[in-house]
Amino acid sequence: MEPADSIRRLGFARWYERRLIEAHAWLITGFLCMIAIAACMEELSFRGSIARLLVYVGAVLAAAAIGIHGLVRYQKILAEAERLGEHATCGGCGAYARFGLISPSHVRCRKCGNEWRLIDST
Ligand SMILES: [Zn+2]
Repeated sequence: MEPADSIRRLGFARWYERRLIEAHAWLITGFLCMIAIAACMEELSFRGSIARLLVYVGAVLAAAAIGIHGLVRYQKILAEAERLGEHATCGGCGAYARFGLISPSHVRCRKCGNEWRLIDST
């Protein structure tokens, strides 16, 4: 998702807040998956039927995939929010998150009119 569109729509402060909430939802998802894996591992035994074993192995693999995806998303979202957050303070007057987007990468301070690059267009 392009951050400029969301920042334009929500304003930087709300965008930042939502990114933190989303990141932590992924962190919690990753954590719950680890608990699910631990619970399944405890149930894993080679005494039961092969079908039962395969169900638990499948559950462990699914939880591991979702959990890893969740932790990677957590890390990526947080890194992006931090990176933009570092550039959210106006160099002219020191106002935090008080800017409007004038292009997909540049912003203008609402207090003093100073313009700077918020998003590196790579
Ligand atoms: Zn300013």
